[in-house]
Amino acid sequence: FDNMDKVDPEISAIIRSEMARQENKIELIASENFTSSAVMEACGSALTNKYAEGYPGKRYYGGCEHVDEAESLAIERMKKLFHAEYANVQPHSGSSANIAVYFALAEPGDTILGMDLSNGGHLTHGSPVNMSGKYFNFVPYRVDSETERIDFDEVRKLAKENKPKMIVAGASAYPRIIEADKFREIADEVGALLMVDMAHFAGLVAAGFHPNPVEHAHVVTTTTHKTLRGPRGGAILCKEEFGKQIDKAIFPGIQGGPLMHIIAGKAVCFKEAAAPEFVEYQKQVLVNAQVMAEELLAQDFKLVSGGTDNHLVLLNLTNKNITGKEAEKLLDAAGITTNKNTVPNDPNGPFVTSGIRLGTPAMTTRGFKEAEMRRVVEAIGLILNHPTDAVAAEKAKGIVKELCEAFPLYK
Ligand code: PLP
Repeated sequence: FDNMDKVDPEISAIIRSEMARQENKIELIASENFTSSAVMEACGSALTNKYAEGYPGKRYYGGCEHVDEAESLAIERMKKLFHAEYANVQPHSGSSANIAVYFALAEPGDTILGMDLSNGGHLTHGSPVNMSGKYFNFVPYRVDSETERIDFDEVRKLAKENKPKMIVAGASAYPRIIEADKFREIADEVGALLMVDMAHFAGLVAAGFHPNPVEHAHVVTTTTHKTLRGPRGGAILCKEEFGKQIDKAIFPGIQGGPLMHIIAGKAVCFKEAAAPEFVEYQKQVLVNAQVMAEELLAQDFKLVSGGTDNHLVLLNLTNKNITGKEAEKLLDAAGITTNKNTVPNDPNGPFVTSGIRLGTPAMTTRGFKEAEMRRVVEAIGLILNHPTDAVAAEKAKGIVKELCEAFPLYK
């Protein structure tokens, strides 16, 4: 940070503190990951200086010959990775990608089916506090209260009753496979379009460990920074026939100049995700999630839906006499970063919650395997089973320190 140290020592110190936090804590937030140094180099490059409104070959600015190449590479690599007909890599975030799709393929006021936020859906799937819920008539579907899996009978019933323009599948806190084929069947029965938001599981799809929603959905949105392990951002895949509408909805619809440095970072990410090492990585992400689930169940923790098929588990803490908010705070104090989360039919609201969401993508990137995951759960158990025990807390902190030192980040 030679330059930053001279120009802005305050920000430089803040970044160093954040790097130390990432190095010294166990990161279990299911939507986070550690991107490669190559991705970060692209994101910190001179491409940040360039205006490039428009799309490759059709820009509103001169001097775009090199950024055109970067964006074209990102598009081609992404299409190949997910076997898609069309890609737009410009969305600044997953939220922008989702909003753009709604405005591209529906009219304000149209009815759309989306997963309820408190059952695992995302804010942009129709929450009343989000633009999606304000501009469109979202009808929420929920999980079955017994199995805690998506209730397709209810989805079908709601689709038939409400005749939506679109059905949105995908979630932020759902530990099971998103069955795009079943959603498509229902969408076809009522003449709706299907959008799958694969933000959470895109990395698993790229590696072949989750059914590819591109095969069934009219449009697929994603973030690039979760399991996919790229820079913070979004992207959209679709059938060729929707390409023009999607492009227009992103620019000039909701965005101006694309972030060309981030698009270059996305291109690097897609290249990395096509490599054999990435398949090995995702395999371990899943194995680690299985181990985490087994070890938690062995300690009498309740898991939403009883386990996991993907990279995350959702703990229901109602049998432990502790709220999600308290658990998040206690774990953080011991060096384990998580987030509180509502569970289906949560007796507490979204600020307190009765759950904790735990994911394996970040620590798997750091090199954790089964043995380390067992130690992580040991530490979690020490904290959550003995919330007022200072000796247990010290023991948990010792485990965190030992594991972080053994697996340095950005060696
Ligand atoms: N979609 C899903 C399923 C998500 O989980 C998230 C983020 O958590 C998003 C969309 C939004 O992504 P972003 O935070 O980049 O706007």
